[in-house]
Amino acid sequence: MQAPFILGLTGGIGSGKSAASHWFETQGIQVVDADIVAREVVEPDQPALHAIQAAFGDWVLDKTGALNRKALREHIFQHANARKVLEGITHPAIRQSIIQQLQDATSPYVILVSPLLLETNQHELTDRVLLIDASEDLQIERASQRDRQSIQQIRQIIQAQMPRKQKQQLAHDIVLNDGHLSHLYAHLEPLHQKYLSIAEQKKSL
Ligand code: ADP
Repeated sequence: MQAPFILGLTGGIGSGKSAASHWFETQGIQVVDADIVAREVVEPDQPALHAIQAAFGDWVLDKTGALNRKALREHIFQHANARKVLEGITHPAIRQSIIQQLQDATSPYVILVSPLLLETNQHELTDRVLLIDASEDLQIERASQRDRQSIQQIRQIIQAQMPRKQKQQLAHDIVLNDGHLSHLYAHLEPLHQKYLSIAEQKKSL
C-alpha cells in the first residue's frame, strides 16, 4: 500500500502549532505530536525507561517507578556527556514510535507536529512542511500567557530554535498567525483542501 501523505507542521514556541493542529483534528485529520511521543516513550514499562535506568542508575526513577525528570535534568546539567547518552536512548525510541503512529493513521492524510521538525531529521519523514509563523513579540505574549515561564525563559527558547527567516525558507506553506483564531482557521481551510487533493493524487500513483 502507498504510504499516506504526511504533512509536517512546525513553528516556534507560542506560534500557534497546537491551535492549528487542533483545527486539523476537527476536520478529521489525525495528528502525531512529537512532544507527546517524547513523553510516552519514557513512561513506566517502556523499553527506553528501562534503558535510562540501566545507563544512569535507579535514582532516575521516583517512588512510583516514573522518570524523575527533575533529578535527571540536574544530572545532565552537571555532566556534559549525560545528555548525549540520554538522547542516544530517547531519540531512536521517539523516531520509531512516530513512524509507527504515522503508519497506523487512517485519515486521508496525517500530520506530524513538532517544534523541532526542521532542526532535526524529523522533517525527512514528511512530504511537505507547513510553518505557523508569528512575530517574536506575539510568540512571547502568547507563550507567557499560556505557560508559567518567564519572558526571559521564553526568549532563551526562541534563541535556541532555528531563526524564523530560515524556517520560512524551508517551509512549503506558511500561515502568519497574527490575527484572531478565526483568521488562523480561515487560512488553514484552503490549505486543508489542497492537502486533501495532494493526498488523493498520492493514493492513485
Ligand atoms: P505552540 O503550540 O506553537 O507553542 P499554541 O498553539 O499553544 O502555540 O499557542 C500559544 C497560546 O496562544 C495558546 O494559549 C493559544 O490558545 C494562543 N493562541 C494561538 N493562536 C492565537 C490567536 N491567533 N489568537 C489568540 N490566541 C492564540
